[in-house]
Amino acid sequence: MEKDFTYCISCGMPLREKKDYPCGDESKNFCVHCGDEKGNLKSYDEVLKGMSGFFQKEQGVDEHTAQSIAKTVMAKMPAWKGL
Ligand SMILES: [Zn+2]
Repeated sequence: MEKDFTYCISCGMPLREKKDYPCGDESKNFCVHCGDEKGNLKSYDEVLKGMSGFFQKEQGVDEHTAQSIAKTVMAKMPAWKGL
């Protein structure tokens, strides 16, 4: 049976391998993109910025659109729910 993987509580990225975790720490429940160099979860604004940049690059949308997509995605994530 395949090992279940979890999703990053901050951005929803699947956490499949050690390299997906911040500092390779598999006890974390967020991904390498949402963790800082010490393995702590980044702030809302930092994650939002990173995710907006990702959407701009991946989907070719402008900054404003990318940010509103990122906000919509993050609003559903356990780490940012209710913010
Ligand atoms: Zn993440």
